[in-house]
Amino acid sequence: MSGKKGVIAIDGHSSCGKSTVAKDLAKVLAYVYIDSGAMYRAVTLFAMKNGIIGESGIDEQNLKAQLNDINITFKYDADAKLNETFLNGESIEEEIRGLEVSNNVSAISTIAFVRHRMVELQQAMGKEGGIVMDGRDIGTVVFPNADLKLFMTASPEIRAQRRCDELMAKNPADTSISLEAILQNVKSRDHIDSTRTESPLKQAEDALVLDNGNMTKPEQLQWILDVLKERNLA
Ligand code: C5P
Repeated sequence: MSGKKGVIAIDGHSSCGKSTVAKDLAKVLAYVYIDSGAMYRAVTLFAMKNGIIGESGIDEQNLKAQLNDINITFKYDADAKLNETFLNGESIEEEIRGLEVSNNVSAISTIAFVRHRMVELQQAMGKEGGIVMDGRDIGTVVFPNADLKLFMTASPEIRAQRRCDELMAKNPADTSISLEAILQNVKSRDHIDSTRTESPLKQAEDALVLDNGNMTKPEQLQWILDVLKERNLA
């Protein structure tokens, strides 16, 4: 971006490739990339490990009492495009991508005090600009004055297939990976994310829609760079 380092907000449905395009974009622009979903996943893992999520649901009081003990940090290698998430100093990158965390994360992210804390942390990270952040409420709540807002989407079937391919590539021997279960998870997260009362997933009025169902990764990146150029932002 010319002169000032801007803020780019990328929102959209689960598993539609937001983080891939956000990472590529951050690399080209020499910006910091922040995966806000990883922060909600980290809180979820913390809750699972500390007996806060049980058979009877989420013990919100307990979570509230321990919220300030949750320290989330990132280590990002832009060249390798590897983003590692740490919870209280321990790498949790693998664990937070599993189906168990995926199945609990939307419930955790409906809790208002959790969202307020995450938004506060995210706004602090973007204070100096030079940031690409992806999530569900980045353009609507976290950075309402972002320099560019994108809303990404693709059909649930395409998204589930992509997620399935990704998991299979990582764990080829894992026979428990099921496209049907992933599709259910994608649909269920769409529903919870879009209907929750606290900061539901919705397109910001001034966001541009990027439906990437039939686009390659380089095409998506080029599409965004063209928009930035058109707006004299790159
Ligand atoms: O982006 P990702 O799929 O990893 O996010 C995991 C979950 O975290 C989402 O399904 C959503 O429930 C929640 N989330 C959110 N707000 C954000 C980012 C993620 O509620 N800004």
